Amino acid sequence: MDTKIQIKDRFFTPYISREKIAEAVARVASQMNEDLAGKNPLFLCVLNGAFVFAADLFREITVDAEISFIRMKSYDGMQSTGQVKELYGLQQDITGRTVVVVEDIVDTGFTIQQLIQKLNIHNPKEVKVATLLFKPESLKCDVKPDYVALEIPPAFIVGYGLDYDEQGRNLKDIYVVAED
Ligand code: 5GP
Repeated sequence: MDTKIQIKDRFFTPYISREKIAEAVARVASQMNEDLAGKNPLFLCVLNGAFVFAADLFREITVDAEISFIRMKSYDGMQSTGQVKELYGLQQDITGRTVVVVEDIVDTGFTIQQLIQKLNIHNPKEVKVATLLFKPESLKCDVKPDYVALEIPPAFIVGYGLDYDEQGRNLKDIYVVAED
């Protein structure tokens, strides 16, 4: 793996290798192949961060399944909290369907909690959550991802789809921010 890298004003060090990521993705995928057989699940990749994970995960799925892409954006109105996020891009009728949300990272859990609430309005049969990374110590909501590729301590991560100020998504390995 490469050594320390710089993105804009911060330094990052190698944290999880591409080989370890691939192993973890294959492991959750095989669990999903067992659980989701016969359900024709609709995978919903949450843009932008989850696109690399979703592409690798979906190619390990061997049961009938579909994939589509959604986005959670902060509410652009008079809300001062900046916390309220709206769901964009849902094209499919998910009524009665098994939906698998594919996320890059569950940190406080607020994003995924709001997303599940918004999806439930459309009466899906069930909503499962698959995440590449999970920071259990940062969790502030009553949500638990169903499929977790890698658990990590609270730390800022880039690479494999995740960005620092829109840079670094193309890194093949995952990097952690270096202490100053
Ligand atoms: P939550 O709502 O669970 O606190 O945060 C979820 C979102 O915050 C993720 O989808 C991601 O966009 C961003 N996020 C949380 N932790 C990290 C991190 O360590 N690195 C990056 N690049 N984004 C993060």
